[in-house]
Amino acid sequence: MSTIRTPCEVCGVVLVAADDMVVSVAATNNFGFYEFECPQCDTRQRHKTGIETVSLLVQHGCPMLADSVPAESREVHEGDPITHDDLIDFHELIRDRHRFNAAVAQMTRIDT
Ligand SMILES: [Zn+2]
Repeated sequence: MSTIRTPCEVCGVVLVAADDMVVSVAATNNFGFYEFECPQCDTRQRHKTGIETVSLLVQHGCPMLADSVPAESREVHEGDPITHDDLIDFHELIRDRHRFNAAVAQMTRIDT
């Protein structure tokens, strides 16, 4: 079992067993957190960290909260990312009821 060297706000640097630490990923997937109860002072510690550190902690045996990863991150995405122009086009589309209804009707025909 791995041991993680990490700061405690009360004690300074402490050693925490990997399975006594829990990691989670923020909804944006750009950062995460790790939490543990300090083995010396028993205070609950929660630290924000980069996604690379979250990955390393999981590789070393820290459990990850199952519901911390947004379901969207598991979706398969195809095509290019949307752009600002795409958003402007969409905004104009939904403001024009006739164009919007025609687009929905076209999508419905494609899906069936
Ligand atoms: Zn402590």
